[in-house]
Amino acid sequence: MLTVAHIAAFLDQFAPPKLAESWDNVGLLVGDPLVTVERVMTCLTVTPESAQEAIDEQVGLIVTHHPLPFQATKRITTETVDGRLLWNLIRAGVSIYSPHTAFDSARAGINQRLVTGLGLLDVAPITPTVHVGDPTVTGLGAGRYGRLAEPLSLAEVLTRVKAFLKIDTLQVVGPLDRTIRSLAVACGSAGEFLTPARKLGCECLLTGETRFHTSLEAEATGTALILAGHYATERFGVEALADELRQAFPPLRIWASERERDPLQWH
Ligand SMILES: [Zn+2]
Repeated sequence: MLTVAHIAAFLDQFAPPKLAESWDNVGLLVGDPLVTVERVMTCLTVTPESAQEAIDEQVGLIVTHHPLPFQATKRITTETVDGRLLWNLIRAGVSIYSPHTAFDSARAGINQRLVTGLGLLDVAPITPTVHVGDPTVTGLGAGRYGRLAEPLSLAEVLTRVKAFLKIDTLQVVGPLDRTIRSLAVACGSAGEFLTPARKLGCECLLTGETRFHTSLEAEATGTALILAGHYATERFGVEALADELRQAFPPLRIWASERERDPLQWH
């Protein structure tokens, strides 16, 4: 019999909570560790659609990349969107675990998968985690950067990004014939890595989305910036996480939400 605690323990090791940012809310957030689980669903975000899928499919545990609840919560009522989601999931007996920034930064986390998928070499974190002497997080941290095996034009980097993320459209700052030798990546909304990436010698940062002013800063400093969408830069990670969980827990039925989608339409 596998319980919520068994899966939470695996996730705590796979994406150690000490890798999470200090503002984050990660780990088992809702539920009963001792309850038996037969079905697990991963998703990027708990939305009305993904929550209903979990309830319809009698899921015991949702592993959501984005935490719910995220902020300190004083009441759970159906009068707010998050309150309604929590109330409905709790009534249906669904536990919630979120690895969020711990998964972004983990050894087999989203950013590591991005740099591997884009073929980067000599990879290192943009901001290393400071836990001196702790082997579980040594060499890890937020974001990743590395060098391309051979220099590519920015246009060629875009082609590679689109192919890996399976997207047709994205936004870019910088001349398409610019030569890119080193690339930094940070999934989701991570414009704060623009300056650190430049200081590390990267000609380009790939992230999901940023503020307009970050795009202006990229242009002014001559750093290429690729915005591939928050959803696209993270959703593939929760599909990979479902694969990891399936390998670790063969008796369970585990899948990535089939009802969640990017709320932004890309044309
Ligand atoms: Zn995100």
